[in-house]
Amino acid sequence: MIVWMDGRTVDRNDAKISVFDHGLLYGDGVFEGIRVYSGRIFQCKAHMDRLFRSAEGIRLGCAFDEKQLTDAMNACIQANNIYDGYIRLIVTRGPGTLGLNPFNCEQSTTIIIADAISLYSREMYERGLPLIITKTRRCPAESLDPSIKSLNYLNNTLAKIECVDAGVPEGIMLNEKGNVAEGTGDNIFIVKDGAIITPPPEAGILLGITRGVVIHLARQMELEAIERDITPADLYAADECFLTGTAAEVIAATHVDGNAIGNGTVGPITEMLLGRFHEFARTDEEVPYEG
Ligand code: PMP
Repeated sequence: MIVWMDGRTVDRNDAKISVFDHGLLYGDGVFEGIRVYSGRIFQCKAHMDRLFRSAEGIRLGCAFDEKQLTDAMNACIQANNIYDGYIRLIVTRGPGTLGLNPFNCEQSTTIIIADAISLYSREMYERGLPLIITKTRRCPAESLDPSIKSLNYLNNTLAKIECVDAGVPEGIMLNEKGNVAEGTGDNIFIVKDGAIITPPPEAGILLGITRGVVIHLARQMELEAIERDITPADLYAADECFLTGTAAEVIAATHVDGNAIGNGTVGPITEMLLGRFHEFARTDEEVPYEG
């Protein structure tokens, strides 16, 4: 495997960063997880917009512009013969001193990894996932804005540990108000009376690219798509539930905290959107990033 680092391509065994890189020392950096479908970068523009928005959010200057990064990603998927796969694009603060001050780091580090991906088993896509609501709450925007896709994922990691301990593949994090925010690595939608409902940006979430695509597709299909607060009671009483994310794509969630959501099977609206998403993934239509 070939990894792209700061304008050079290197073998994966030689793809190394400094132990003084603030990405490692402090989780100081930003990243994107991006799908490749049929050899094409899915929603490239939206991912670039979010990356630069995230970088701005932590006052990180990128050494490469959108075109350079896009060309580098394309070179990387070609070099690794990726037809359907996943790209991880990372920009760290770069090497500095042991002190926290990010502005002592002279040059950010940019890394592109292109690989195969499979997050959940085929069975889970067919049958849906059991979830828990985690005790770990999503960081409030006043502490660490969840709309910044930063390398600092410990908030999510702690919630994920709860999922592993509970023996479920994914968990839902509440925000500081006790409303539903998102999964540890995906956004959540519920279906109620034929409408799809997802928490708004103000609920303290990452504005997922897949979330935006699903809202777009739902509206094309003349389904009502609503952004509003979801309480845990709403989730328990939902007709259907599904998660969206670059790695997860669209996947049904059939149980929460041991209770069935709806009748505990993959619901018809989820099934329809899942099918439509996979058709759409093979087109080159772009949905603008709304962040
Ligand atoms: N929320 C969180 C916390 C995530 O890590 C992800 C995955 N990047 C998402 C939502 C989904 O975002 P996207 O659809 O852009 O992958």
